[in-house]
Amino acid sequence: MSTEPRKLLAVFAHPDDESFICGGTLAKYADSGVEITLVSATRGEMGRRMGNPPYLNRETMAAAREQELREACECLGVKHLHFFDIRDKTVEFADPDQLANRIAGFIREINPDAILTFHEKWGGHPDHCAIGKATIEALARTGLAIALYFISFGDSLAYPEAYGYTQEEIARIDVSRYKKAKLAAFRAHRCQTEIDEWVWLPDRQAMSRFGDHEYFIKGNKEALKLGKADLF
Ligand SMILES: [Zn+2]
Repeated sequence: MSTEPRKLLAVFAHPDDESFICGGTLAKYADSGVEITLVSATRGEMGRRMGNPPYLNRETMAAAREQELREACECLGVKHLHFFDIRDKTVEFADPDQLANRIAGFIREINPDAILTFHEKWGGHPDHCAIGKATIEALARTGLAIALYFISFGDSLAYPEAYGYTQEEIARIDVSRYKKAKLAAFRAHRCQTEIDEWVWLPDRQAMSRFGDHEYFIKGNKEALKLGKADLF
């Protein structure tokens, strides 16, 4: 038996996507020994929230958000972090061929057991949809048989039939034991969360905002072959 750890590659658009959307799942797998690499296409320097009261500007925001993401990765146990240095809010205008090639390079180098990204239609933000689309293309270019999943917001996929999916097409990850790590990661993204009073309530009250599960759409046949409560 190989003793090499399982590997997960997450390809997202902004600092905070990883924590706000699937922080519990990342913390859970990191805790079980999975080696996680996160790629953030941008540094989130066009974020509307500039601190509360505002203390950042467009010049200082990229460095502040990069640092916050590094802290969030520590909270979640994400070991490797890379940026594509694409300007925030312009991922959809990046050259799609180049972007797919860069992502494909990471996929080949890491050879992960699973990949997480955004759904190209339901990403909820043009940057999210663009990075999702590029990641799908990148995986296809590698020709590798790696399970692909699309992240989803909150409990929206608790009843996937409402969105045209069957239960078999969804992975439902129990993150109930990882709310503390998720909350710590939310707090690490301070300039984005300090305006949200609930984040700063006593831990137990703040964590009550988090659901017990995070949901992922299975994005290819490799993912569909796997179970409903695990990404591997
Ligand atoms: Zn985002």
